[in-house]
Amino acid sequence: MSTIVAIVGRPNVGKSTLFNRLIKRREAIVDSVSGVTRDRNYGKSEWNGKEFSVIDTGGYIKGSDDIFEAEIRKQVELAIDEADVIMFVVDVEEGITPMDDEVAKLLRKITKPVIVVVNKVDNAMREKDAYEFYNLGLGDYITISSTSGSGTGELLDELIKVF
Ligand code: GDP
Ligand code: MG
Repeated sequence: MSTIVAIVGRPNVGKSTLFNRLIKRREAIVDSVSGVTRDRNYGKSEWNGKEFSVIDTGGYIKGSDDIFEAEIRKQVELAIDEADVIMFVVDVEEGITPMDDEVAKLLRKITKPVIVVVNKVDNAMREKDAYEFYNLGLGDYITISSTSGSGTGELLDELIKVF
């Protein structure tokens, strides 16, 4: 079994953009657990000879704010269960939102490695805006731009250090 990396975070932070950048090929979803909504994409990737699977979560979350929050919580809990490493994606344009704090609270309780990924850092000006994400209480973070790809090499270097 290769290491499983789950990408979590609230909608619109750029999880799927990052997923598409990280994966080399998509996997068919083989799921023996029936009756569970697995709202996720699976892919395979590799960095410096280390292979891993990537799960993109929360693709179809829709509805009212309440449903929204419950769904995100469920997605994060599922990811915590099945992944070996969690990438928690946040958005430097929006800063820390209440929903980010909710997700951070769940992630602070686990012993699995969590990498905080500050996305949409498209230019040097935004590097300093990323400081506020220390307040999530999850330690250091990596800044990236999923659309340009900058920082994703450093992210992958960090990722393979933890497995
Ligand atoms: P998800 O809901 O977390 O999966 O987010 P998506 O990957 O669907 O991206 C949401 C929006 O953010 C899209 O319009 C993306 O083009 C945009 N986006 C994603 N990554 C970046 C980034 O690094 N910089 C900027 N400026 N926009 C981004
Ligand atoms: Mg998505």
